[in-house]
Amino acid sequence: VVKADPFTQRRVLDLAEVDRSVAGAEHRRATMPELAEIAAGNSILADLRTARITAETEVGDLDRDARKLDTEIEQVRARAERDRQRLAAGAAAKELENLEHEVASLARRQASLEDDALELMERRETADASLAAANSAFETAASSVIAAEERRDTVLSQVATELENLARRRAEVAAPLPADLSALYERIRSTGKTAAGELKGSMCGACHYQLNQVDLAEIRSAAADLVVRCPECGAILVRA
Ligand SMILES: [Zn+2]
Repeated sequence: VVKADPFTQRRVLDLAEVDRSVAGAEHRRATMPELAEIAAGNSILADLRTARITAETEVGDLDRDARKLDTEIEQVRARAERDRQRLAAGAAAKELENLEHEVASLARRQASLEDDALELMERRETADASLAAANSAFETAASSVIAAEERRDTVLSQVATELENLARRRAEVAAPLPADLSALYERIRSTGKTAAGELKGSMCGACHYQLNQVDLAEIRSAAADLVVRCPECGAILVRA
């Protein structure tokens, strides 16, 4: 049995009010939309990072293929040049015929390699465009995440200040409470429930249930300094 004069009992209502504000601030901190936005943004960034690496690899591969092709074209050109010099220098008929045949074949080979080089260049342009798009998408997503993080930090700092003020206010309100009343309040609160409510008419201010007439009559007839509890939710029920 906990007893406290009605004035002291009313202080637990103030305490419950402070605790409601604390819960509200904590809820706001845990559920602010920026948190989901940052998580989604980071997931997009991970995908874009992969897309960027893929595009970079593609560009690198095409550059390597182009260098290989250039070397090959250069070799064909050099060989054709050497053949032409030998033709100019003159030789036996059979050898000249072979050389002419080879020069024609090298010319075809060169034309084919140059076509490949051209095609490679077009693919390189496409790959370049993909890489630029991936980079640009990454930058855009990264700045969105940074902006959301800044907004989150602002909310965090606001909530921190609010919670500090509430903690001070709570200490002020709780200080004059007798130890047994305070212990009862904290015990109820530790279950996650609203620990105190005002009896308004027949309604409990903590759980908002209407008390039945029997309970109501019992609570109303109890001594004014007796701390009573809601039969429905267990909150300290403060009579007006
Ligand atoms: Zn209740």
